[in-house]
Amino acid sequence: MPSSPRLDAIQRTQQRPAAATAPAAPLQDIWAVDVFNLSKMKSSLPKEIFKSIQKTIKDGGKLDVSVANVVAQAMKDWAVSRGALYYAHVFYPLTNSTAEKHDGFISTQSDGSAICEFTGKVLVQGEPDGSSFPNGGIRSTFEARGYTAWDITSPAYLMATPNGVTLCIPTVFVSWTGEALDKKTPLLRSNAAMNKQAQRLLKLLGNSDVAPVNSSCGAEQEYFLVDSAFVSLRPDLLLSGRTLFGNPSAKGQQFDDHYFGAIPQRVQVFMQDVEQQMYRLGIPAKTRHNEVAPGQFEIAPFFEAANVATDHQQLTMTLLKNTARKHGMNCLLHEKPFEGINGSGKHVNWSVGNSTQGNLLDPGSSPEENMQFLLFCGAVIRGAHLYGPLLRAVVATAGNDHRLGANEAPPAIISVYLGSQLQEVYTMIKDGNLGSTDHGGLMQLGVDTLPEFPKDPGDRNRTSPFAFTGNRFEFRAVGSNQSVAGPLVAMNTILADSLEYMCNELEAKMGAGESLESAAASVLKAIMEAHGNVVFGGDGYSSEWHQMAVNERGLENLPTTADALLVLERDSVKDLFARMGVLTPVELQSRFEVYAEQYVLAVEVEAKLALQIARTQVYPAVMQYLGDLANSLRYQEDLGLPPDRAMAGRIATLNQELLANCTALESALASAPHGSAAHMRHCADGLLPLMHKIREAVDGLETLVDDKAWPLPTYQEMLFIR
Ligand code: ADP
Ligand code: MG
Repeated sequence: MPSSPRLDAIQRTQQRPAAATAPAAPLQDIWAVDVFNLSKMKSSLPKEIFKSIQKTIKDGGKLDVSVANVVAQAMKDWAVSRGALYYAHVFYPLTNSTAEKHDGFISTQSDGSAICEFTGKVLVQGEPDGSSFPNGGIRSTFEARGYTAWDITSPAYLMATPNGVTLCIPTVFVSWTGEALDKKTPLLRSNAAMNKQAQRLLKLLGNSDVAPVNSSCGAEQEYFLVDSAFVSLRPDLLLSGRTLFGNPSAKGQQFDDHYFGAIPQRVQVFMQDVEQQMYRLGIPAKTRHNEVAPGQFEIAPFFEAANVATDHQQLTMTLLKNTARKHGMNCLLHEKPFEGINGSGKHVNWSVGNSTQGNLLDPGSSPEENMQFLLFCGAVIRGAHLYGPLLRAVVATAGNDHRLGANEAPPAIISVYLGSQLQEVYTMIKDGNLGSTDHGGLMQLGVDTLPEFPKDPGDRNRTSPFAFTGNRFEFRAVGSNQSVAGPLVAMNTILADSLEYMCNELEAKMGAGESLESAAASVLKAIMEAHGNVVFGGDGYSSEWHQMAVNERGLENLPTTADALLVLERDSVKDLFARMGVLTPVELQSRFEVYAEQYVLAVEVEAKLALQIARTQVYPAVMQYLGDLANSLRYQEDLGLPPDRAMAGRIATLNQELLANCTALESALASAPHGSAAHMRHCADGLLPLMHKIREAVDGLETLVDDKAWPLPTYQEMLFIR
């Protein structure tokens, strides 16, 4: 049998030895063993010090240097006892990735010996330089120093590699002038802004004991697994994360036989490996299953405080990728690795609550009687309407553009799904009819301790980008490869803004003598009159909705990143972030520049890859085959057999299209305009359509050229061989 790298790869997948894994361990033996959490602090710190750090974690604020020194000592002793020689300040630059600066504990002594040393100062603040991280013009390189500072609400942990252990400290990353260069700083600020206004509202509602309000997040992560033998033969998957070419496999996802089917054994071994590592790091992995597309899976943890959940989500993505390699697979986190079958998203489940009032988005059994819930939920509705385009902007990436609006993921129009019961309640509020329900009277306070509002699983709408799901909102438009920080920042900030508006209105009305009940009812009525248009319970995938949303409801449809990112430059958005103290106009502008650049880079890398693969892999294979074909046709003619030139003709035609579009793409690449907005447009309208044309030619050729000569692993192989 003639051999080729591709056919060899298929063989290799079948001969792979099982990956070495640790045997299963009981949860209590592994849970959070690698985390320097409160319970480890409690057992290793003097009582007063522990109380002090516990208070700082709960109430926020700066860690006192004397406290930091003792904590640093204990943290180092713990890490060193576990074999750590290095520590790393871990931070989250604007690239959706995780960055680390590693430093040794080592300190040499005058007698030539060496000891491990770690002080409060280096625990609390590091100086990673980091001048090559994108900063959108905030820093010029001569003043490139950025600082990392421990976010003490997110515990330090140990990362183990086969021959080492590193103490990792989650940090914020700011410029020396205090500008946020990362994703964690605005998240903490947005939470503080939301907390401030939420407490204000809770107190207005008559609650005397009000604990700090925090946001929570549970992120469901979808991903694909592909055998590494195939990935190494696909430069597109390797460098851009998605297949730029590939004819659909004869069998796709039409049978729905993968969704929630039995997990293939090799995959389950991988999943268990990931989950055990997650447990060691205190990440509460909770669900695993097959997803809709062949080769696609999902993992979701139990929800946690948003800022810890965000760090844990980053860690989860890292663990998925690293562990997959160990098992001879690549974990693809790209939003659309394969055309023609479902892409991957990340559902971000989000709610706000505290220890005294509980989950503020829990309606209880009778939402119409629960004014507290109705106000908080109403605030989210107002925010999603006023700043819907912002919610679209925070999920705008080159990868996610292939998914949103493609009948498998929510549209690029932001609407809110409430479920029929709640939608009815808000309609009554809008019509001023709430007082006349069977339950009688105006909304009463404090009945949120009733049993749970029944969550009807049928009452779910998978086509909505932003859905209320019983006791939380689920932001479904987020891309699988994205950090959840941006979406959480946006949700916290628009909620803070709406709560502030509500509090101002309530205070004014009550100051003028209105009762709380009547003031709340009229504030909610006004909100629903102005913003009720964003509530939609129908099919978000339908073309009717696209028409109606834009023409009748006045909602915006921002189909590509080139459209959506411009929202970050709007005055209303600048004003929102500045007023809420989350991002200064300079910080926001820097984000626009960085995200625009990332979009442009992603598309241009893909364009270059498309050219490279089409010209240096596909074209030679086609020419070779066409040559063989031409020769045998000539032999047939010599023998007087009737030659069929149709096949050769089709191949030659497609080959010409391939070459012509490559030439066009090459010149388009060379003629990029200046300016972020224009450059993005050029990518969306100039490069991507040409890449699509090349793809059509290549995918057509794949169906005609000799399979043995085809250089790229096929969809069938990548999706079904495991
Ligand atoms: P489904 O797959 O049906 O959407 P799951 O049970 O998988 O639902 O839950 C999705 C995620 O939502 C999980 O991470 C879960 O912990 C999280 N979640 C549940 N309640 C809340 C809440 N109040 N706030 C934030 N996240 C929540
Ligand atoms: Mg979900």
